[in-house]
Amino acid sequence: MLLDLYRRKINYLRISVTDRCNLRCRYCMPEEGIPLIHHEYVLRYEEILRIVRVFAREGISKVRLTGGEPLVRKGIVDFIARLSQIEEIRDLSLTTNGILLRELARDLKRAGLRRVNISLDSLRRDRFLQITRKDEYERVWAGIVEALSAGLTPIKINMVAIRGVNDDEIEDFARLTRHLPLTVRYIEYMPSGNGDVWAESHIVTTPEIQRHLETLGKLIPIASEKWDGPATRFRLEGAIGEIGFIGAVSNHFCSECNRLRLTPDGKIRTCLFSDDEVDLREILRKGGTDEELKQRLLAAIHSKPERHHINTHQFKKCQRNMSAIGG
Ligand code: SAM
Repeated sequence: MLLDLYRRKINYLRISVTDRCNLRCRYCMPEEGIPLIHHEYVLRYEEILRIVRVFAREGISKVRLTGGEPLVRKGIVDFIARLSQIEEIRDLSLTTNGILLRELARDLKRAGLRRVNISLDSLRRDRFLQITRKDEYERVWAGIVEALSAGLTPIKINMVAIRGVNDDEIEDFARLTRHLPLTVRYIEYMPSGNGDVWAESHIVTTPEIQRHLETLGKLIPIASEKWDGPATRFRLEGAIGEIGFIGAVSNHFCSECNRLRLTPDGKIRTCLFSDDEVDLREILRKGGTDEELKQRLLAAIHSKPERHHINTHQFKKCQRNMSAIGG
C-alpha cells in the first residue's frame, strides 16, 4: 500500500498520453495551440506500460488516460488492450472530448476500457463552436450515443461552468439526466490553462449550481462508491441519470486526494497545482531498473503536498498547461 506523509492512500494514476488536442477550448488554450513537447521526449507506450506495471505492484489500482486528447494518439486502442492486461489495475477509464468516440467506442470497449468521461461545456452548437473553436458538436453527440451503446458506462459528462459563458445552461445539462442514463458532473472553473482568461469572478461555485438545480426538483443524495473519487453524487427526483459536483476550488478535497499524474514526457506530478515534478524518463532511458523506478515513485509520494492553495493568496498559477499535465 502506498501511503503519503499525511496518511493518504495513493492508488490512482492519471496518465496524460499526449499534449496534442483536436480542440482549442478558449479557457484551455490559445487558438494557435501551445508549444508541444517534442516527439522524442514523449514516453513510448512501452515505457508507460513499464511504469504502470511497477506502480501497480506497489499499490496503484486505478488508471485514467487523459491528455491533451488521448484518442488522437496513434495506437491508443492497442495500448489500452495491453494496459487492461495488468491484473492489479481494477479500474481503467479515459477522459475525452468525444470527437473520435463514434469511430472508436466499440474498439475501446473490446480492448478492455471500462468507462469514459466526456467533456462537454455546451448543448448548443453555436456556443460549442464559440468555446472550442471547432464546429464538432454533432460529432461529440454521435460519440456519446455510440459510447452508450458500446457499454462504456457509466458515462460521465463533465461540464465546466463559467460565468457569462455557459452558466445559463446549468439546468439544461441536469435535464439530460431525466431521460438519459448519463452522469452530469459540474466542475468548478480552476485557475489553470490559457493565459490570463481565468478570473475568480468567472467561477460558478458548487453551492450556486446546486441552487440553480433545486429549481428543477428535489436533489436526492446518493452514497459514494469505491471508485467514485471526489464528486458528491445526487439524483433529480424521478431521473434515470445522476448529477455530481466537483468543487475543486470552493471545497478542495486535498485531504482525500489519492492521485498521481504522469505527464506525456515522463514526469510524475503529485498535485495538479504544483510544478514540482519527479522525472521517470531519465531512469527509463538510461537503462535504469524497476527498483529505481519504484524509489522515484516513493520519493514522489513523500513530496505530495498536504493541499493546494488555489483558493488562497499564496496561490501561483502553475507553469504547465492543463493539456500537458492531464486534466
Ligand atoms: N481532451 C480531454 C477532454 O477534453 O476531456 C482530456 C483533457 S482536458 C484538459 C480534461 C478536462 O479538463 C476537460 O474536462 C476540461 O474541461 C478540463 N479543464 C481544462 N481547463 C480547465 C479549467 N481551467 N478548469 C476546470 N476544468 C478544466
